[in-house]
Amino acid sequence: MSTLDSLAPTPGQGGAPLDALRFENRFLAELPGDPVSGPRRREVRGALWSRVSPEPVPAPTVLVWSREVAQMLGLNAQAMGSDTLRDVLAGNALLPGMDPFAGNYGGHQFGHWAGQLGDGRAISLGEQLLADGRRFEWQLKGAGPTPYARTADGRAALRSSIREFLCSEAMHHLGVPTTRALSLVATGQAVVRDVMYDGHPAPEPGAVVCRIAPSFLRFGHFELPSARGETDLLRRLADFTIARDFPHLATAAGAPAAGSEALYAEWFGEICARTARMVAEWMRVGFVHGVMNTDNMSILGLTIDYGPYGWIDDYDPDWTPNTTDAQGRRYRFGWQPAVARWNLVRLAQALSPLFGDAAPLQDGLARFGSTYADADRDIVARKLGLAECREDDIALVRDLHALMHASSADMTLCFRALAEVRPQAVPSAGGVSGNAGKGADDAADAFARCPSLRNVFYDPAQRDTHADAWMQWLRRYAARLADDALTPELRAARMAAANPLYVLRNYLAQQAIDRAGHGDLGEVHALLELLRRPYDAQPGREAYAGLRPDWARERVGCSMLSCSS
Ligand code: AMP
Ligand code: MG
Repeated sequence: MSTLDSLAPTPGQGGAPLDALRFENRFLAELPGDPVSGPRRREVRGALWSRVSPEPVPAPTVLVWSREVAQMLGLNAQAMGSDTLRDVLAGNALLPGMDPFAGNYGGHQFGHWAGQLGDGRAISLGEQLLADGRRFEWQLKGAGPTPYARTADGRAALRSSIREFLCSEAMHHLGVPTTRALSLVATGQAVVRDVMYDGHPAPEPGAVVCRIAPSFLRFGHFELPSARGETDLLRRLADFTIARDFPHLATAAGAPAAGSEALYAEWFGEICARTARMVAEWMRVGFVHGVMNTDNMSILGLTIDYGPYGWIDDYDPDWTPNTTDAQGRRYRFGWQPAVARWNLVRLAQALSPLFGDAAPLQDGLARFGSTYADADRDIVARKLGLAECREDDIALVRDLHALMHASSADMTLCFRALAEVRPQAVPSAGGVSGNAGKGADDAADAFARCPSLRNVFYDPAQRDTHADAWMQWLRRYAARLADDALTPELRAARMAAANPLYVLRNYLAQQAIDRAGHGDLGEVHALLELLRRPYDAQPGREAYAGLRPDWARERVGCSMLSCSS
């Protein structure tokens, strides 16, 4: 077992870039920690973190890294290729100024209070301070056990690490708030996992992802001290979080005083607003988180903890990728906004000792509702290519969702196809035989207004059954476009920027994982490259923009995943 001594800082190799990195660990410096170090499993009270070293691995290899994240952190290719950084990213070495720890938090899991959880396999190395004042925490996921590992091994499988690495970068390029991933390192050490929880544990390759975010604080960080009646600790954490991660709230002209209830109220309101915008973006791109427990909810409104997440292929608001949640389907696609609010109510309860009465917390929750509604309307307008979202457009998009669901249409391809529809004033009554609709509405070709739409269905029989309904909907949409201010060019640009062509479909990630299992990282690299520009048609990469193939419909990893990772 490693000790802090065995991980003494290693000087940077290969020149300035590594030596120039500056770490300043405010979380450790300003908040109470566990007096005991090391990974012995235990309850930790009165403290927000425990010092623990990553456990070295036998054969670290950097499999892939994100050039955008490296650049953001001031790391050039030479630094990324150095043995020193490889060792740091594997948990085998530390850079000067790093001071590794695991965070202590609790959480509500699947609707029930679970008590202390904490970083069981995530170890933060330190907070990097950039010259422009931005701060990024480096966190290794799968770097060995911590006091919070309970009965688990503190490690992560290569399979789930590929999924986290690719998806967090893909989400960033889609414009969805998220934690980032700097690197994916193979450990050369097997982990044993029972993938479907059916009594068949087996060894598989292990890996470590280095995640990057301004903060990895979760709702659960506030819930745990609150549940234990540690109100002073809760207050210190709230004051710290506002000062470090929400400084604009306290420094704006006329801002409420530090430690005041008014400041806490503004802070909670902003958490609600950020969470609303994040979930609205998930709904825009068809992302299903899969495990929206409160320990997996970032206080910054970032998508965090990529586990059994998935992407909507055929539109189905009831779909969840998480087999562990197959019964209640609490974390199904269409419920995500409501679950986010439920989680914010748990956070409000946790913060209530800081408030004299519940009114400011109710106001914050109301801000969730209004921010979500505004974001949703904005997204409706962008996805449909409208200058603005009017009252009737809510019904238009609701009917589109119902039609996509009933007729097994692919969400991603459907919205891309709609860009083909041209504005056309159509009389609201008179049916398809009306003069204005003639030609485009030839009854023999329900999809004449939008030829590509014909090819977005998983079940052609369902498509044909609903062809009339589609024709009617397309007529409504064409009429609505005729009454909209945008030029065709602006509309096309607006739609192309809101409706991705490439998303990390579950089967695409699984294909990359299968090949990586045979030592071939080519597909991981190809997907990382593809998903850097998810809105641009990329010639030669048409295969990535097709319907999910039939073979992937029920395959483990392609349509369903367990929490085993
Ligand atoms: P998750 O559902 O992945 O967010 O994990 C829930 C809790 O289980 C967190 O406290 C994790 O740190 C912990 N956990 C998950 N997998 C492991 C593992 N392999 N070793 C230690 N802790 C783990
Ligand atoms: Mg988690």
